[in-house]
Amino acid sequence: MNTQTLLDVAEEFGTPTYVYDANSITNQYRKLHAAFKPLDVKLHYAMKALSNINILRLLKNEGAGLDAVSIQEVRLGLHAGFAPESIMYTPNCVSFEEIRRAVELGVHINLDNLNMLEKFGSEYGGSVPVCIRINPHIMAGGNSNISVGHIDSKFGISIHQVRHIERIVEHYGLNIRGLHMHTGSDIIDADVFLRGAALLYEAANHFPDLEFMDFGSGFKVGYKESDIVTDIETIGTRIAESFQEFCTNYGRNLELWFEPGKYIVSEAGKFLVRTNVVKQTTSTVFAGVDSGQNHLIRPMFYNAYHHIENISNTGGEKKLYSIVGYICESDTLGHDRLLNEVREGDILAISNAGAYAFSMANQYNSRFRPAEVLIYNDETYLIRERETMEDLLRNQVELPIFDEATVEIA
Ligand SMILES: *Cc1c(COP(=O)(O)O)cnc(C)c1O
Repeated sequence: MNTQTLLDVAEEFGTPTYVYDANSITNQYRKLHAAFKPLDVKLHYAMKALSNINILRLLKNEGAGLDAVSIQEVRLGLHAGFAPESIMYTPNCVSFEEIRRAVELGVHINLDNLNMLEKFGSEYGGSVPVCIRINPHIMAGGNSNISVGHIDSKFGISIHQVRHIERIVEHYGLNIRGLHMHTGSDIIDADVFLRGAALLYEAANHFPDLEFMDFGSGFKVGYKESDIVTDIETIGTRIAESFQEFCTNYGRNLELWFEPGKYIVSEAGKFLVRTNVVKQTTSTVFAGVDSGQNHLIRPMFYNAYHHIENISNTGGEKKLYSIVGYICESDTLGHDRLLNEVREGDILAISNAGAYAFSMANQYNSRFRPAEVLIYNDETYLIRERETMEDLLRNQVELPIFDEATVEIA
């Protein structure tokens, strides 16, 4: 997306607004899919990264399935037109009632808790196939909040409990169709996947009826220019090799699944904000924008770096700024950034705003959630309207007892 396109979007739809480039999304999808050749891997897009219906449909047209982590995501996926069998439901700490609901909807069930597995067995026996999420106890990923496969993590059933899983499976006649792992986000190294894979291959010997293995996600994308990103070709080649060898030993060809989120949509998104104030203090110059951690929480939450550019003054002299939001918190989108001189009214474009940006946005400070725009085949489409006062008041129950007439203010 070039600067002029982004400026046009800001002009037409206002700010703050997320803009997504459909081409980038389909390119990433195709690149990842091709990396595992000769295997025809199944990619279930982890929709929690960005779940706008139009993005889901764009990926459906590419042949993607979905990875859903809540029953609401399952329902959104079905609403978008995905077949139940193309949706993997990977919940954590949900009620058994929610799992029942997912079974009724016909999606793949992935369980990560021995109690649930036992309950599942006693209710469904072998009548509903199930996948098991294994925790391989591998420390991987860019930040402790996004490393989910280590020993202290709440996710998965420990690889050391395979014998216990096996007991439950035998007793209830469970039909185990898949083994799954997801060790975290921002994994650079093929060896991390391969170490986890090796553990799953070994565990597979205990489950003779497998149809697929799901190696989760964690493919890293670049945030900074200097960032090392996942070398997807190398990872693809090495995993494909090891998987084929495993299938030979297992005696059957299984499907290989992944569930990428960030890799597919992160780089496709730009977040456009407008500079409200340029404020010189004793220690820095703040560029204060019409957004903040309520719309892009990753810098505050994960200490994430998001590249920021002043697209209104691309020829301006480079100066040092701290880019901050309008929320009543010390919300900072970027510390000590060199930007082309920022003037009040200038539009800043924040990169990597496709994944975990809108999907983590909230209404803190009673601010509206932004609009979303999709650029598809050089056309610009509004795919979510900016919220309004109605959205802030929706679901609030206004009690008549607090009518102005009855409340006396001393
Ligand atoms: C979040 C999540 C993913 C996607 O992770 P990314 O780092 O965005 O690729 C995949 N699988 C599961 C189970 C997840 O919870």
